[in-house]
Order: sequence, then C-alpha cells, then structure tokens
Amino acid sequence: MRRLTIFVWLFVAAMTYGQTQRLTDATPFVTVNGPVFVLNHVRVIDGTGATAREDQAVVIENGKIQSIGTSASLQAPPHAQLLDRSGYTVIPGLVGMHNHLYYNSSYSVQVGASGELGEPGFVIATAPFSAPRLYLAAGITTMRTTGSIEPYADLKVKQRIDAKLMPGPSIDVTAPYLEGPPTRYAAMHELTGPEDARRLVDYWAAEGATAHKLKLTGHLCSVTWHEAIALGIDDLEHGPVFADTDFVSGKKPDICPPGPLRDNSWANLDISGSQVQHLIRDLVSHHVAVTSTLPVFEAARIPGRPKLQQRMLNAMSAESAQSYLTARARVPSDSPGMALLRKEMDFEVAFVKAGGLLLAGPDPTGNGGVLPGFGDQREIELLVEAGLSPVQAIQITTENGAIYLGQQDRIGTLMPGKQADLVLIEGDPSKNVEEIENVETVFKAGIGYDSAKLIESVHGQVGVR
Ligand SMILES: [Zn+2]
Repeated sequence: MRRLTIFVWLFVAAMTYGQTQRLTDATPFVTVNGPVFVLNHVRVIDGTGATAREDQAVVIENGKIQSIGTSASLQAPPHAQLLDRSGYTVIPGLVGMHNHLYYNSSYSVQVGASGELGEPGFVIATAPFSAPRLYLAAGITTMRTTGSIEPYADLKVKQRIDAKLMPGPSIDVTAPYLEGPPTRYAAMHELTGPEDARRLVDYWAAEGATAHKLKLTGHLCSVTWHEAIALGIDDLEHGPVFADTDFVSGKKPDICPPGPLRDNSWANLDISGSQVQHLIRDLVSHHVAVTSTLPVFEAARIPGRPKLQQRMLNAMSAESAQSYLTARARVPSDSPGMALLRKEMDFEVAFVKAGGLLLAGPDPTGNGGVLPGFGDQREIELLVEAGLSPVQAIQITTENGAIYLGQQDRIGTLMPGKQADLVLIEGDPSKNVEEIENVETVFKAGIGYDSAKLIESVHGQVGVR
C-alpha cells in the first residue's frame, strides 16, 4: 500500500513538474538544493593552509564552485539564491582517513585469576546507519574506511550513498584487515601465509574494495615502520608512539611485542634525537604518509579527557553510554597517557615541518569515547593543541587527505572548478578552533544537508545500528 502511494506521488509529481524527484532517505535533511546559489559575506578558509579571507562570496553552480571573491565584487549569476551568512566560515569538506563504519559498543577489561588486569576486550557494533549520518553532519564529505569488519555492509553503504538513497560521505571502502594469528577480534580472518593473503586481496578487490594494486596502509606491530617503508607501504596508521615497534629492545622479527614494552620504547625517545629524525627522513624520502588518530588515544589513555559532551551521550545508546562512562572512570589518574600523547603530538608536528604528508581520522574505537564525526572535529582541535595552527590542522584534514587519495584535482580545497564540498560553520575556527563543532550546513556536490537534523536522526543509535 505504502509502495503504491509513493509510486502514485512520483507519477503525479512527474506529470505536474515534468520531472521526477527522487524520494529518498537523504531528502528530509536537504535544506539547500538550488542549481545556483551564493554563500555571501562569509569567511573562507580554503584548505591550502592560507590564512582566512574575510567577507567573501562563494558562488556554487551545478554542484561546483563557480567563483570565490570579495562580496563587494560579487556579480551574482541570474536566478542565484543569495544566502547571507555573515559571521560564518566556509571550509572544504573534510576528508576523513581513519573513519570506520563501526564503533566499539562495549569495552571490558578482563580480570585475571590473581586479580591483575588483562588485555582490554572489545565488542564491535557495525554502524551502517549512524556512522555515515554523523560523519556527514560533522562536515566529512569524503572518507576512507581504513579496515573493514563487515566489508559487504560497507560496500552496500557506499553504493546507497553514491545512488543518493541515503545521506553520507563519499566512501573509499578498504578491504578487511589482513590479520595474522592470534587476533583479538572474532570478526577477523587469521591469515595462514602469503598465498592466503593474495587470495583474500584478490577476492575483495573483485568485490569492489580499493585493494588491488592500489594503496596499502597498516596499523602495524610485528612489522616495524622501517621494515614497512622498505617494503613499499604508502601510509602508516596512528602515528609511531602507539604503533611503531622499531625501538622495542629485543624485538624479534615478525613478532608483536606486548603493549607495555611498546609504550616504554617510545617514552624515552627524544623527538629531535637521531633515531626519530632518521625515521622521519625515511618516511618523507619514501613518500610514506602518516595518519594521526589523536582522539582515540586521548579518550582511552588520559583521565578526565575529553570534556564530556551532551551531544555525544545523546547519540549513544544507553548501554554504550554506560559502557563508555565506566571505561572512562577506569583510566588511572597516574596514567602515562598524557606524556605519550604529548610525544605523539610532537612527532606529528616534526613530521609536518619536515615535509611529511600527515593525514587525520578519529578512529571511533578504543574505550567508546570517540564517535564518528564528532571525533573528526576533536582531531582538528588536538592537532592545534599539538602546536599546529587551525588553518594547518584544517589543511591536514582536507587537502592532505585528497592528495593521498589522488583526488586533489576534484576535492580538498576551495577553488573554482572544484566539486562544491564545503562546510558552513558558525563562528571563526581560525581564531577559536572549538568553533569547528558549530556546523550549520554541509554541502556535498552542492547539495546542502542540515547538520542538526542529521545528528538528531541518530539519537540513541550509536552502538545499536
Ligand atoms: Zn582503526
């Protein structure tokens, strides 16, 4: 009956207006859909690292940026819709580079027989409904999944978003994890050897994952960063302080040393010392990118951080919120996390200064304190805490991601001719970086989505679907 009603509605619409309009799950969130409009009197941060430009007019025509110039010199095209947004800032759509379509729905620390704390255990909830909406709401218009737990679900989400059947960013779906035994995750296949790895990559490349003869990234442990660079890897996840085993004493080839040994190996290293500087030179000279995922470490390792946000708790299911609040309270007050996070931040700033391509993503895993989208915004704030300027942090989360994906001619910066992927923010994040959270509208290929409506639509759903 309902199907019939929709069919009739479409038929009438087609008769009346001479064209059919798609009635999709994305439609209720669209607030701007004109073929020609102008964001007038806005501040522009173009994503190249250049300083913000005041009182600009951004002209959008048929999904592309037609021109950017001062409002005083604006010659609006005929029939253009004029959107006066003084006090607002426009930045390029974010390119999230460690943006899973899943979320840790609960977190438990197993207690051993003699009362000692064991390895944390994770329960993973896929988030094909909530994650794309939260990413888009926060300004992410392009993302890479960077490891898939349910690759078929990820591919379907991508196809439905591309067909405009649901709201969300453009997605680069990576293959499932290439994981060696033993894994802590029941959902991951444990490879038996190189032949098995080849078989898995061939299969998922044929299914549509961006795996074959394309770029390779990794969250490593048994293989060190120097080894991976020599093997030709393109990107390394999480930064070295929490993921590189080059400096673990007694490291055996192809064996992942335990967590405390890894932490200690970087705790005593000097970022300006010869070992780290050599690693930075090795990365830069081989054009190996590094993906920063500061929010996941902040949440899991630093007591009392990040500041609790009501919008985040609202988006989570009651169980997920409870699980996170419990895990949050368990972070020891004498945790070495802050010193390690500071070291990671210092590494990232040094890597950028040396000409390295730093990418960014939230990694919505860990103890549940990082949500899709909100975590991407937190990443920008933490890059600024690290010592980069807000416009540099925005460049890392926009242009750099586009460069890595080979899409810099189409997305990543605000230039005439580029796709109209942009984020309209109330306030000035180049002065107060936290204002990056005040997203009003996210434009993807010139279609404007209401951020608040997207967030409201996932109320209580993170950890469920
Ligand atoms: Zn991850």
